[in-house]
Amino acid sequence: MIIDCHGHYTTAPEPLQLFREAQKEAFKAGKALPEVPHISDDKIRESIEKNQLKLLEARGLDMTIFSPRASAMAHHIGDEAVSKQWTSACNDLIHRVVDLYPQKFIGVCQLPQSVGVPIKNSIEELERCVNELGFVGCNLNPDPSGGHWTSAPLTDPSWYPFYEKMVELDVPAMIHVSGSCNPNFHATGAHYMNADTTAFMQFLEGNLFKDFPDLRFIIPHGGGAVPYHWGRYRGLADMLKQPPLREHVMKNVYFDTCVYHQPGIDLLFEVIDIDNILFGSEMIGAVRGIDPETGQYFDDTKRYVDALNLSGEDRTKVYSGNARRVYPRLNKRLKEMGV
Ligand SMILES: [Zn+2]
Repeated sequence: MIIDCHGHYTTAPEPLQLFREAQKEAFKAGKALPEVPHISDDKIRESIEKNQLKLLEARGLDMTIFSPRASAMAHHIGDEAVSKQWTSACNDLIHRVVDLYPQKFIGVCQLPQSVGVPIKNSIEELERCVNELGFVGCNLNPDPSGGHWTSAPLTDPSWYPFYEKMVELDVPAMIHVSGSCNPNFHATGAHYMNADTTAFMQFLEGNLFKDFPDLRFIIPHGGGAVPYHWGRYRGLADMLKQPPLREHVMKNVYFDTCVYHQPGIDLLFEVIDIDNILFGSEMIGAVRGIDPETGQYFDDTKRYVDALNLSGEDRTKVYSGNARRVYPRLNKRLKEMGV
């Protein structure tokens, strides 16, 4: 079985985006927020079957861990009420997709984060999504300001109430920023990579996993710059008198395979333990084109992983075993489905 741990609903039907525009305008004008539009099953089917489902099947994948479009979370826009309404609308749509294709998609939620608003205010939506909608994880934005980094590091106790709830519900979080409103940082080319690398360094500097030994994070996009600079991080851990990374961070942190070329995947697997790598492609996402050097889609990451010639055991870990371990609620669902 092949589980893609990183997919977003980037192709959601147009009424969702029109609603978002109306919502932003209403907020700006100080008017009441508009109603969330009803989107028909047919519109949802069309948006999925022509896109994610088509590619899923063409690439030989079985299931995607599916969440709202990350760049559109835009926690820096509006206020808490705007973020809450937008978030529940996006999460409800993910739930509709999962209901239509329960064998192919499983939900991960966006959180109603907002600049200056305590993260504990996102607990209610996490509980709703996990307990009522059957979601198996969440996307946690370490920088709701969209590129200005105005919140405390992820190791700060202000995040702890949320982590307590994650542990209680036994769900992991993918560390995932959203759009950038800082022109210095291109969203998917700089802001995403920066955030991945920044989160890892925060975990290295802090002692979060001493307080939360069962907390689990996925750092996407192959861990940002971390695997490439693994020696730097090992050296920094040593200089900062922290335990070796394997004990200090890597019992709780996982990287996906959203790295869009063979040498990058080769390096990831050479440097990072197989138990810490989850297959992911982030399709249809940041890089949608075809690589002229290979004639294949850049984000068809299964090709690169297949080319590694992993042992049967390692292959199972990367393609499904690690995901089932990191997302116990997904594992439970698969067992109920007889997989
Ligand atoms: Zn993503």
